[in-house]
Amino acid sequence: MKWLWKYANNNQMLWREVIGAKYEKEDNWIAKEVTTPYGVSLWRSIRSLWNEVKSNSKAKVMDGNKTRFWKDIWHEKGNTEDLFPDIYNLIMFQQSTIADLWSPQGWNFIFRRNLNDWEIVRVAEFLNNVNTFTGLQPGEDKLWWTGDDKGVFKVNKSYKLMDQTDQQCSSWPWKQIWKSRIPHKVSFFVWSMAKEAVLTQDNVMKRGRTLCSRCFLCGETFETVNHLFLHCKYTHHLWRIFLNLKGISWTMPMKVAEALLCWEEAGVHAKDRGRWRIIPGAIWWAVWKERNSRCFESIENNVQKVKLNCILLLVFWCNQLYSNDTVSIIDVLDSI
Ligand SMILES: [Zn+2]
Repeated sequence: MKWLWKYANNNQMLWREVIGAKYEKEDNWIAKEVTTPYGVSLWRSIRSLWNEVKSNSKAKVMDGNKTRFWKDIWHEKGNTEDLFPDIYNLIMFQQSTIADLWSPQGWNFIFRRNLNDWEIVRVAEFLNNVNTFTGLQPGEDKLWWTGDDKGVFKVNKSYKLMDQTDQQCSSWPWKQIWKSRIPHKVSFFVWSMAKEAVLTQDNVMKRGRTLCSRCFLCGETFETVNHLFLHCKYTHHLWRIFLNLKGISWTMPMKVAEALLCWEEAGVHAKDRGRWRIIPGAIWWAVWKERNSRCFESIENNVQKVKLNCILLLVFWCNQLYSNDTVSIIDVLDSI
């Protein structure tokens, strides 16, 4: 590597051409972003939150091979690109790592051109700041997450951090999604519904497929998450089972997340709040099963059968919740 540095000082353009590819990589801490329309969607979602993690992290420099001098936060005062944007513009190889720029003799920066007199004071200030760096050490660079005392990323602490910064989270029905005693796969399904990310026809079309969209249940309008699960007249029959039982007058909210919050409010007089909270999941799972049965198997059940399926799901999940005694359909409907 040393001969390359020496050679580079004599021939900067060649350096750029020979090893420029090395610097095309944007971030050394994470795998590439998913840019194709296909791929693992769970990873795509996790990867899209990387900037959130990165903004609360700083690099702990050891051998300097992972930490980029200008792009990563390793200096106590912050990101060097933000601290010295004018010097950043004068520098070649802006993606260089600390190992690339540091030698036992000190920093080895290469400027794009000769400096003007008025720039020298600013460069001196810059060097003064980065000269607080004490040198490389054996070991691999580490990312230190500042949200935790030990620097380890934790989902619950990250959620609290985001909750402080994102006011929308205060009206997010996390309790109705994650504290409801329904199977985990159904919780995830409800969560993706609330995010309007379930693969209904509108979302399939957003991914580039051309479809002649029509609701599989009522056939009257195009299929969206909010139509299929909230406003479809077929789904309406399922909601009415429980609303009629409690004599609740109900205007269906526009979105799934709002519906979950309103359902919680409507259940304030329910005899068993735990069972009441299961109901939306049971309705939506029964609707989704029926929708998929029509879509993929061309099997169509009448609404009475789907209503029964919904009630049986509710009873089955209630039995899991109170596993000590088996409850009947009558018990469950009487207790909500
Ligand atoms: Zn419909």
